[in-house]
Amino acid sequence: MAKKKKKTKRKLAYPKLPMQRHLNLCHEGTHFDLRPMFNDLNKRYFRGRLRGYNVMWGRRRKHRPRENFIFGTIQEEDRVIRINPALDQPFVPPWFLRYVLYHEMLHSVVPDETLSPNRRRVHTEEFNRREREFRHYRRARRWEEENLSRFLR
Ligand SMILES: [Zn+2]
Repeated sequence: MAKKKKKTKRKLAYPKLPMQRHLNLCHEGTHFDLRPMFNDLNKRYFRGRLRGYNVMWGRRRKHRPRENFIFGTIQEEDRVIRINPALDQPFVPPWFLRYVLYHEMLHSVVPDETLSPNRRRVHTEEFNRREREFRHYRRARRWEEENLSRFLR
């Protein structure tokens, strides 16, 4: 069984604000803390343009999916980026996690394209072009291809 790190400290640091505690600390996983990663990416690639975002690990699922593993999501209305907690594992390279986070952050600055009244494209050419600007893009895509099965059933 995995030990939960810093549990006591969390409780002491935020004794009266459970919701606040929730928002502030659910970016901290067992192996990776998403907040400093977000801040660094925001500075490095977006000139600090993403403001007021919460970045957090999503809910853990009982079972791994059979086919579609969703690495991350962004909810623009609430400015919440969620990363799949299956990525909070020691075998996941930090640069891959950063790539996943970068991808979601990019959605907040590159607009979708409307193809027809009920069809939209989110991964537009502009999006793909900017995605390739991520420093470890090719390495990350290759890692994704080679390791995807580890996240599936
Ligand atoms: Zn996407």
